[in-house]
Amino acid sequence: MGKKKFAAIVLSAGRGKRMQANVPKQYLMLAGKPVLYYSLDAFEKSRAEDIILVSGKEEVDYCQNEIVNKYGFTKVRAVVPGGKERYHSVFCGLLELEKRGQPPDYVMIHDGARPFVDQATIERCAKASEQDQACVAGMPVKDTIKIVDREKFTIETPLRSNVWQVQTPQVFAFPLIQKAYRELLQREEEGHILSVTDDAMVVEQILKTKVRLVEGSYKNIKITTPEDLEMAQIFLKSDV
Ligand code: C5P
Repeated sequence: MGKKKFAAIVLSAGRGKRMQANVPKQYLMLAGKPVLYYSLDAFEKSRAEDIILVSGKEEVDYCQNEIVNKYGFTKVRAVVPGGKERYHSVFCGLLELEKRGQPPDYVMIHDGARPFVDQATIERCAKASEQDQACVAGMPVKDTIKIVDREKFTIETPLRSNVWQVQTPQVFAFPLIQKAYRELLQREEEGHILSVTDDAMVVEQILKTKVRLVEGSYKNIKITTPEDLEMAQIFLKSDV
């Protein structure tokens, strides 16, 4: 069995409404560099051979010039515009990989807004995907989780030891994720209302395929609200 080819899709097309800033969260500066720099750097150093960066339509040039060229990321093969929802952006990345010929065996999908993903997490997910085809990074929750109704009354309290918070990378055999996303977008075209917040959901719900959780890291936070940015600054300081 030859060495398997891995590609990465780094997502950066979100508007970041929850940050209440003028700039989308992935472009906010952390120690003089945009958040997205750190996420790309992690995949540049990983076993991924090719990286597709998916950005907002208006930020393609900024990403190409001020991030990819400026910091010399050599594995970024294309910066492509994403779509309205995260899953549209993932689909844009998958189409770009398809179009380039020689599709990868596995694709690692990563939120550009998670700058603290480490090599050990990427490697654990990559290795696990070779065995299980569909693997996502995550960590056991620390708090008790409640399922609530619209009026915020509790419906259910799942057993904490069975509940994980899911992160990225989410790593899949390429034909599997390609099939799942094609069918998802087909359903949308047929008028189904979709509520999709990660890639594992697409594989679970569309293909009924089990997805394996792999240990990530509590530092692998998604910069979403102003508190996350404060946390990020603390993490950076503790790393130097
Ligand atoms: O919105 P959410 O926090 O789920 O975003 C996770 C990641 O997906 C972020 O890095 C964001 O830039 C990206 N995203 C995207 N296209 C969208 C929405 C989110 O690439 N339409």
